Amino acid sequence: MASITLANVYKVFGSEVIAVNNVTLDIVDGEFLVLVGPSGCGKSTLLRMIAGLEELTAGEISIGDRQVTDLPSKDRDVAMVFQNYALYPHMTVEQNLGFGLRLRKEDKVESARRVADVARILGLDPLMKRRPGELSGGQRQRVAMGRAMVREPKAFLMDEPLSNLDAKLRVQMRSELSRLHERLKTTTVYVTHDQVEAMTLGDRVVVMRDGVVQQVDTPQNLYSRPVNLFVAAFIGSPPMNLVEATVADGRVNFAGYSLPIEPSRLNGFSGESVILGIRPADLEDCAVWGTNNLPTIDVVAEVTEELGSEVNVIFSIDAPPLHSEEAQAAATDDAGDAVPLLAELNDKARFCARVDSRSPVRPGSTITLSVDPARFHFFDPATGRAIPATN
Ligand code: ATP
Repeated sequence: MASITLANVYKVFGSEVIAVNNVTLDIVDGEFLVLVGPSGCGKSTLLRMIAGLEELTAGEISIGDRQVTDLPSKDRDVAMVFQNYALYPHMTVEQNLGFGLRLRKEDKVESARRVADVARILGLDPLMKRRPGELSGGQRQRVAMGRAMVREPKAFLMDEPLSNLDAKLRVQMRSELSRLHERLKTTTVYVTHDQVEAMTLGDRVVVMRDGVVQQVDTPQNLYSRPVNLFVAAFIGSPPMNLVEATVADGRVNFAGYSLPIEPSRLNGFSGESVILGIRPADLEDCAVWGTNNLPTIDVVAEVTEELGSEVNVIFSIDAPPLHSEEAQAAATDDAGDAVPLLAELNDKARFCARVDSRSPVRPGSTITLSVDPARFHFFDPATGRAIPATN
């Protein structure tokens, strides 16, 4: 196991494409670090540079206490797991697991021990004599993991390893990966465009945009303290509601609503415009929970999405949609590709409230939502940066 250090790493393709732009990161020994961001943000390129599959344009990479910047991949002692598992179709599971060790001319007895250990940990014992064609997607993925594990590398580097699996299997494999990491504690760098995967797997998550690291933080901090509009809009599902607001006399005003904020919260912004962000989960239906002494807003539900445990209530507010390059850049579909913001399709901003499933709300009904101003997020419209709480 080892720490991994990246110092001022750049990758420029041709003369124009800056795929990775001055990334500095300290990945702690034993950490599960996730790189996340929309398609094309540079996360795979960064991972490939750590693996030694892509040369750096500038900067340095160390693994453990060893400078590896110019070392070939095979000498870095890291194991990659890709989305296409690239198993050898004519070999059995057992042979696939042991193949890398044979190539490296590892001792036979030691190889057999490692293959047997890994097979037991991953539950592959009953499948050892099968070929990849006789396995399910999840089983193949497990073999691909096993092949990386038998090498007992200093680090695992994983590039969207679950993206070929169907949704249910992905969730299952995600928790298997978490359990495996708990047990092995091998330093892992994991690339995904899926923020739910990033949040559930990562000890820390690196959010990237256009080759630049936006924030490196725990999942909880990314959610509750995003440093800018891009991170705020990218992390969280459904995404944070965003609208332009004005501040005056200790109140924030938007869409005809006027809500009190803590006296010291936006010192220096009185009379100014800010961007207000409210997480869907921070709006609750008073019909279920009462007001809890919080201010309320009345809204008309347009669409309700029953999720079993909660209901997403979509409603329009009397304000134009926010035109923000950052928020737009963060809006991506399941494949990580850009999509138009829901709000942009309308002349009114659309908000979402994630309320208790016991809410009686139906499309067309008016509901009273409690809002907790202590949980509001504020951003500077000029820079997109979060306006920090002063206390
Ligand atoms: P995805 O989730 O779609 O895989 P990503 O975040 O992993 O995207 P990269 O694959 O790292 O992004 O690509 C970053 C940028 O570098 C993109 O603009 C991409 O088009 C460009 N790029 C990647 N590889 C090459 C290459 N071999 N030659 C030229 N440009 C490249």
